[in-house]
Amino acid sequence: MMKFPPIYFFCFLILTCSLNAQQVPCYFDEYTNNESLSDAERQIQEGVQNILSGNRTMDSVRAIPVVVHIIHTGGSENISEAQVQNQIQVLNEDFGKLPGTNGFGLGVDTEVRFFLANLDPGGRCTNGIVRVNSPLANHQSYQRALLKELSFWDNTRYLNIYVVKSINGNVAGYSSFPDGPPEADGIVVRHNYFGNSGTANNFLGRTTTHEIGHWFGVFHTFNNACGDDVCTSGDFICDTPPQFEPNFSCTTKNTCSNDVPDLNDLKENYMNYTPGSCKNMFTEGQKIRMQSTLNEIRTEIWSADNLLGTGYDSVYMPPVVCPVVAGFVSLTRDICFGNSVYFMDISLNDATTWQWSFPGGNPAVSNEANPTVIYNTIGTYDVTLIVSDGASTDSLTIASYINVGSPGIGDALSYSENFDDGLYPPAGITINNPNGGITWVLDSLASTSGMYSMRMDNYASICCGTVDEIILPNLDFTSISPDPEIYMSFNWAYARSDPSFSDELLVLLSTDCGTTFAQVFYKTGNAMTTGPTQTTSFVPDSTQWKSAFINLDEYKDETFVQVKVVNVTDGGNNLYVDDLYIGNGSDLVSASEIFVEGASLKIYPNPASDKININLDLPEKEMISVKLINAQGMLLREIPDQDFMAGQQQLYFSTMGIPTGVYFVVLEADGHRKAVKVLVQQ
Ligand SMILES: [Zn+2]
Repeated sequence: MMKFPPIYFFCFLILTCSLNAQQVPCYFDEYTNNESLSDAERQIQEGVQNILSGNRTMDSVRAIPVVVHIIHTGGSENISEAQVQNQIQVLNEDFGKLPGTNGFGLGVDTEVRFFLANLDPGGRCTNGIVRVNSPLANHQSYQRALLKELSFWDNTRYLNIYVVKSINGNVAGYSSFPDGPPEADGIVVRHNYFGNSGTANNFLGRTTTHEIGHWFGVFHTFNNACGDDVCTSGDFICDTPPQFEPNFSCTTKNTCSNDVPDLNDLKENYMNYTPGSCKNMFTEGQKIRMQSTLNEIRTEIWSADNLLGTGYDSVYMPPVVCPVVAGFVSLTRDICFGNSVYFMDISLNDATTWQWSFPGGNPAVSNEANPTVIYNTIGTYDVTLIVSDGASTDSLTIASYINVGSPGIGDALSYSENFDDGLYPPAGITINNPNGGITWVLDSLASTSGMYSMRMDNYASICCGTVDEIILPNLDFTSISPDPEIYMSFNWAYARSDPSFSDELLVLLSTDCGTTFAQVFYKTGNAMTTGPTQTTSFVPDSTQWKSAFINLDEYKDETFVQVKVVNVTDGGNNLYVDDLYIGNGSDLVSASEIFVEGASLKIYPNPASDKININLDLPEKEMISVKLINAQGMLLREIPDQDFMAGQQQLYFSTMGIPTGVYFVVLEADGHRKAVKVLVQQ
């Protein structure tokens, strides 16, 4: 079966030498497997047929409740309520083809409208805006599930929009596709692309229009280039002329000639990459796809019941001012004593004063909006927040919110795990699978040592942002000599299932019982691949592995180190990990195996820098070959078969031009083979 790519739309920006920022293609806009449509795509296409055949109507105007979560660090990215309202206005102009506005163009009224929710999921009055002061304002796309842990309203009832300070540095925004998992649902937009006022200075607020088009299941007009057929490939819409590539200007172009009549590309279309100033339309076909998504997948969000429950403007009489609603969140709830917790206020309706109480914490009370609290005593503690805006007051207590444990001393180094005892979970390892879905498993099809490796099946995984972790036992880095240095190495294998997206591999390290983690290793995209892109489930052969080497010397004084190997799925393809090692390399030299009766072998130094010394002590004359191979099995150096005399033999391999990584010195004599792992560190 072919693999359907997970659908996440990233819209990048790069700065060019011109005065204008230029938008470059969305990260994940390739949609190549037209024969293998996802369930969501199939549902949308069936829904389109239902509308065209008259079985389903496009109901009169459907309203979508919106909640805007502003993730900020206290700067101008904490945009005003007026800017949020302005973006909602722009959406209604664009989707409604409102006369007298920029949205009144060549296209149709999609009969979709947007309003800021007037009632929250608890039925309480709100302005539809949640503000969170968090470092996640500088957003990395692999952290998208974390945004939902900060603040998330039921996605069957609300369109969740996250406004952030930055996305991967230079991305304007991205959106999920219909029918993804809740932790992937919603839209993330950079604040300076959000609306057309305040801090916004790009694309007239049409970045959000574009992303919501994706959220409704509409593709780029240039999807799949010219396609094979103007209706059944490309963007699957007949009345958007096929388009070979995105257009970054307002210049008229005609990049495909397989449409009859041969029409120009729609530079005016919101799903193109043209500047906001020349965009003004959705087509009838795009409208039908949106309405199909609302008929078939996003069915509850516009229902009469939900409009009542979220306070749709025409059926809800809001008070003049909504009273405050207390709320807080912390991304850390389990810590060790002596560590601190960052609490974030997520109260609704603009509280102006905060009274926190932290039994067991220091400080025990605080009037800050976002306090940091140290816990010095083992136990389980409640947290209370009382907020006020002067006119109204609200209080929230969450019992047993913080668990404080003991750090202890970690296991002595070195640590190694090759998974070959077949235990699951492997001894001392915790598998963290927060969403309870597909996670790391033992795999016997591929390994760099013995029988087993660990495999994360991103191929079967649906989509995006879910984290699965291999958490190693806590380790005591002071238990071993830091000379020459403490490092971590492991082997991994990965192939993509589509060239335009990728899963992610990280190694995170904590010295404060998991309160905070440093990222010590990160791979995605081409840097992560060890095998060719393939639409079938990836099983690496022995040449399709890479070795990781991570210098951890800066942690040599830590007695309680938590290390975890993390997969962030993008619904791509399988990731394998094998032969984890943390230590100083001194124990990697093993001379216990017998390859020549009575011989001894020493390989040093390990890690090696400019050369690898091989000291061989033979009881009698022997014909031996010595090879240096990399972790992918490629031959790098060789001393071919030759007769060595009895006694001490001193050989070496130069490591000039050999990159840092794990290698093997392989000796063969009379059919017996011995391999010694050596770390090369340049
Ligand atoms: Zn896009």
